[in-house]
Amino acid sequence: MLLKDQEKAKRFLERIYRKKRIPSALLFKGPEGVGKTAAALDFSRGLLCLKEEPWGCGSCSSCVPFNRIAEDIFEGKWEKFNYSDEVNGRKVFLYLRGEHPDFIFVPPAGQSLRIDQVRAVKDFVLVKPLMSHRKVVLIDRAEYITRESANALLKILEEPPFYAFIVLVASETANLLPTVLSRVYPVKFDPLDPKTLKELLPTSKENLYPLTEGSYTKAKALIEKPELLKSAEDFFKKDPAKIYEIIQKVEKLNLEDKLLLLDLLEEKIRDLLIKGVIDYDKFEMLLGRISFIRENITKGIKLGLAFVILWELMED
Ligand SMILES: [Zn+2]
Repeated sequence: MLLKDQEKAKRFLERIYRKKRIPSALLFKGPEGVGKTAAALDFSRGLLCLKEEPWGCGSCSSCVPFNRIAEDIFEGKWEKFNYSDEVNGRKVFLYLRGEHPDFIFVPPAGQSLRIDQVRAVKDFVLVKPLMSHRKVVLIDRAEYITRESANALLKILEEPPFYAFIVLVASETANLLPTVLSRVYPVKFDPLDPKTLKELLPTSKENLYPLTEGSYTKAKALIEKPELLKSAEDFFKKDPAKIYEIIQKVEKLNLEDKLLLLDLLEEKIRDLLIKGVIDYDKFEMLLGRISFIRENITKGIKLGLAFVILWELMED
């Protein structure tokens, strides 16, 4: 199994599997980096397993090719799963080129889940399973779905073929349409406890834990990307040269690192409130600003400029 911890979610999934009461659409939701994708992969393996084991037997002719795909997905090699081709001038996503005929993994293409990706899902779902008894669509980062795509997905969720199962993974459900939410069965994931994090990342420092909010991904990023932590610290040094350095850097970061940096800034601001350096009004105003940046980060907001404004608000 790829999933660690999350006993509650694990028990629930195992129970519905054994009772054969699996909803046709599930939403794995919870904080970033606590094992939702791992759980979705484990559960998908089980759904496809020819020996009907809840998490997959690991050795049948479905589990073996599945594990090869799962490894790539788990390691974040997502670009491999978004092959597209031009057919009659239209971009077509070719998920069927994967190694398992009855499973597709659908990550966002760039910064959104596009309508043509959902069309590919529909095409996939309509063909009966070839190897397993079921077919599984795993949509990761479902919060990146556009309104148009969500409406297209809704049609699939309304009347899925009996053999098709759709697993959505999302960190935030705020962006999902209520109509989509009403058609998916939620499975909740909790932040990881410090003990599990310590086991997963033996090199992590105790003092990093509050920053990770129980997220393995964040803990790992903080260990692997100390420069982000440094940028967050430099931001509060009241040194215009430092802030200039930071704004040069932030525009070049990928989306995940940008979000991580915002989380780090937020954590530092909380610290300042606790230490009495800023008052509550200022704290609220700064946090409001950060959540505005976060919400608009995929909409082309200039992060460097947003940082300068935030920095000036800090100084006021
Ligand atoms: Zn199997």
